Amino acid sequence: MPNNEDEILIFEDSEKLSEFIYREKNKGKKIGFTPTMGALHDGHFSLIRRSLAENDVSICSIFVNPTQFNVPSDLVKYPRTIEKDIKGLRDEGCPVVFIPSSEDIYPNGSDYKVEVDLKGLDEMMEGKKRPGHFEGVVQVVKRLLEITSCDHLYMGQKDYQQFTIIKEMIKDLEMPVKLVVCPILRDEDGLAKSSRNTRLTESHRRKAPIIFRVLTQAKDWLSEGRAPVEISMKATEYLNIQDFKPEYFDLIDGHTLEKVRNTDHHALIVACTAVWAGTVRLIDNMILKGEL
Ligand code: AMP
Repeated sequence: MPNNEDEILIFEDSEKLSEFIYREKNKGKKIGFTPTMGALHDGHFSLIRRSLAENDVSICSIFVNPTQFNVPSDLVKYPRTIEKDIKGLRDEGCPVVFIPSSEDIYPNGSDYKVEVDLKGLDEMMEGKKRPGHFEGVVQVVKRLLEITSCDHLYMGQKDYQQFTIIKEMIKDLEMPVKLVVCPILRDEDGLAKSSRNTRLTESHRRKAPIIFRVLTQAKDWLSEGRAPVEISMKATEYLNIQDFKPEYFDLIDGHTLEKVRNTDHHALIVACTAVWAGTVRLIDNMILKGEL
């Protein structure tokens, strides 16, 4: 039986969780699922709130997936705040949390690749900078979807390439789940909420909203008719302040993730960026044209 800490059910065993969900589904209940790596903040909770509003049973998983870290020290440094996370989930009214072990997620080892045609979506931006990252993401999300057999999967627009790849995986593997993409939650000064923000120095934290300001500027530039290449170049220049190092600032087609050259040829255009703030790598994006 799961541990019952007040009103939140905590599962550590995938089989027990699957049995629980099977029973709930047999009663006709709709299942919403939000996968996370913990260190939960309001961005995560916005996904969970949406799940709570749209489903009968909401599940949040907390699993720091080792296979999506291409730099081993990042995995070690990843913040872990499990007690606080459980308390936060309980306060939000999330009824079920799944906290599996690596052995449970990868019973036969993690040294395998999911057979899926991602149509090259994993090759640009984060895929280029973080080799193997999306293979790990696909691996873990596929396994979690199999365990939870949820009706709705909640992911954030914050990780634009990630949700686009998962959408493609769901389509290619014909998985019976609907992906719900939730807007980026930001701090008041515009910085996208992220578990990594806690690792910023005070001075870097103060400067970090420049990312949001430049994304907003890029949107204005596009509406003024400036060329995408020029916008990328200018934005990179603006982000190049002391201690900050922009890695890329791409204007991409929101569906294919290909770089945009001619604005008129694309209904959905997104600016995606990765910026080093000291030793912390921040990613962010903004829809410049069209809607998801
Ligand atoms: P993570 O724990 O970083 O793997 O994130 C879990 C989920 O929360 C992912 O689908 C993220 O896109 C989403 N997420 C993270 N930060 C935000 C945010 N600021 N606003 C909305 N969703 C977010």
